[in-house]
Amino acid sequence: MTTIEKKERINVFWFRRDLRFDDNKGLYYALKAGLPVLGLFIFDKNILDGLAADDARITFIHGELKKLNILLQSHGSAMHVEYGYPTNVWQKLFKQYDVGSLYMNRDHEPYAKSRDNAVAALARTKGISLETYCDHLIFEGDDVLKDDGNPYTVFTPYKNKWLKKLSGPAPNELPTAFTSFDSGFHLNQFRKVSHKTEIISLEAMGFVPSGQVFPPREIKQTIVTDYDKTRDFPAIAGTSRLGIHFRFGTISIRKKASKALKLNAVYLNELIWRDFYAMILYHFPHTISASFRPEYDRIAWRNDVKEFEAWTLGKTGYPLVDAGMRELNETGYMHNRVRMVVASFLTKHLLIDWRWGEAYFAKKLQDFELASNVGGWQWAAGCGTDAAPYFRIFNPEAQAKKFDPDQIYIKKWVPEFQTSDYALPIIDHKIARERCLNTYKSALSK
Ligand SMILES: Cc1cc2nc3c(=O)[nH]c(=O)nc-3n(C[C@H](O)[C@H](O)[C@H](O)COP(=O)(O)OP(=O)(O)OC[C@H]3O[C@@H](n4cnc5c(N)ncnc54)[C@H](O)[C@@H]3O)c2cc1C
Repeated sequence: MTTIEKKERINVFWFRRDLRFDDNKGLYYALKAGLPVLGLFIFDKNILDGLAADDARITFIHGELKKLNILLQSHGSAMHVEYGYPTNVWQKLFKQYDVGSLYMNRDHEPYAKSRDNAVAALARTKGISLETYCDHLIFEGDDVLKDDGNPYTVFTPYKNKWLKKLSGPAPNELPTAFTSFDSGFHLNQFRKVSHKTEIISLEAMGFVPSGQVFPPREIKQTIVTDYDKTRDFPAIAGTSRLGIHFRFGTISIRKKASKALKLNAVYLNELIWRDFYAMILYHFPHTISASFRPEYDRIAWRNDVKEFEAWTLGKTGYPLVDAGMRELNETGYMHNRVRMVVASFLTKHLLIDWRWGEAYFAKKLQDFELASNVGGWQWAAGCGTDAAPYFRIFNPEAQAKKFDPDQIYIKKWVPEFQTSDYALPIIDHKIARERCLNTYKSALSK
């Protein structure tokens, strides 16, 4: 005779781009629901298999999970970390536990949506309910629409509506979009374990620690208060460097945006851009591989492989471009002003498809965010929503003079600048400009 063992009844919270306990909306509701909560993270083979062994993002996530695990250990619990394909992992968990509900914060990237739909379908076959929340954006998807119900495709009217929607319920109260989800928060609600467990090592997944440094999540308040004055100068530490923390949810966007609302409208504006691009990706997911303005997909890109390589290595002979690419290669970061210049240079001076540049950034940026990266690249190439008109072509030398007047940034990353060892310009600016104008004109007049 076989005895049927009773499965442990739990709820599960699935961590993805929200690696924190503090002000995590979905987690807050999971912990409040009553059942013990299993805190799950899946190192997804579908994603990991395409990455370099020393990918900095994997080192970062791994480090953050270790921190969460240590915190939970002091509450007699542990993070449940898996390595595999999400549907396989869920099949295993559904066999092992009697799962009441699955809690998670929504992710609107196309791959994430198809992954979550597959897991949701599986959960439905078991009668398990799914509870999902908006956590990594202030307003998502359909939250901010035009009066006629259509999505915005231009930033400024979107921003105005976004700010209108933010208006608090009463004067002096924080807008409800900034409600914090900390109160009633109990780490003790996480499912108890009988012994300490370590999370899977990087090496067991085929990775090695990245040597890159990660920016701190705590920043001086003056970075935000002075942001409008300092943000354009790459030699100054005048931006927050919080991109990676927003990407993986190691800080709360609600908390940062509510501070920005009081401290600096220009900083808040950048956070609204983040929502804007996420909204564009949600409504126009095809833009991850096609131009928002389809006529721009008729451009006859030159796609010269040697020139692309020179650009990736920071050897174009244009010092601001080269400094930016070398900063990216070495640190996984590039200043926003310089991102605009290198992206414009690749697409307009070299006439290389924006998708090549987008893919290179996706590999290298610690703060890589699909929506913002595609948005930034299409802006630079002139083919996106709020695109810079194609006839406005950045002059990389004029940009360097204006934004790095003492050449501090350039000399930091291109020490051979102004010596005979420095590369000659890969193309003359005037010739490149003319060629770009002709190529764009001929594509758009077809
Ligand atoms: C070609 C190109 C590619 C880009 N790729 C990415 C990317 O993959 N991931 C990414 O987060 N940003 C991207 N950006 C936007 C911007 O360059 C970075 O967000 C910023 O440089 C990150 O540095 P920071 O954290 O110090 O930002 P701060 O200047 O301190 O800004 C604070 C936060 O606001 C958000 N933000 C700022 N500017 C923008 C913007 N233009 N669009 C959307 N969000 C913004 C980011 O989350 C950023 O961390 C790209 C811009 C360009 C021109």
